[in-house]
Amino acid sequence: MTKHTITPPAAPILGETYVCACGEDLPNRMSAEVHAAETGQCSVCLGSAEEPVAPGFVPELTRACTACAGTGRRREQVVWQLAHAEAEQLITVGVVRDVVAGFDGPFHLSEVADVVRAGLGLQAGRLPVGPRVRDLLLRLQASGEITMLSAPDELLAGTDVVLYRDPQWQRARTLGT
Ligand SMILES: [Zn+2]
Ligand SMILES: [Zn+2]
Repeated sequence: MTKHTITPPAAPILGETYVCACGEDLPNRMSAEVHAAETGQCSVCLGSAEEPVAPGFVPELTRACTACAGTGRRREQVVWQLAHAEAEQLITVGVVRDVVAGFDGPFHLSEVADVVRAGLGLQAGRLPVGPRVRDLLLRLQASGEITMLSAPDELLAGTDVVLYRDPQWQRARTLGT
């Protein structure tokens, strides 16, 4: 069986040529993604199972690819894509707002995600509840309903890119009074 290990360009400035162990010519990112999908690999991480935490800033800092749940495989990527779509349908901003209303004091992202997961009767790891809840909490934050209390856990590239592991928020005003 031919190995299809795709290697990204070593120096992107000099051209976007990807190389696959099978010898296939991959002149750009698009052709590399197509080749990854054809050979049963995740088209986001190209089968490496890792993705950069801060693309373009700190390329050597990586985490498990979120598109394929760190497997590098196309099958998992497709399953996970469907799971993301399902999470978006199930977990609406109203669901998260209701959960947040139940917290009098500060609350962590993980606490809200746990309540949402329990409320929907979901097993851990079935749907990407955490990322979906985080997106919706950031939306509530943008509309002024909640305020973030946490300082970033890590600063990358100065203050341009910051990382939060399990951020904490508080309701901006007491609802219903
Ligand atoms: Zn190949
Ligand atoms: Zn991947």
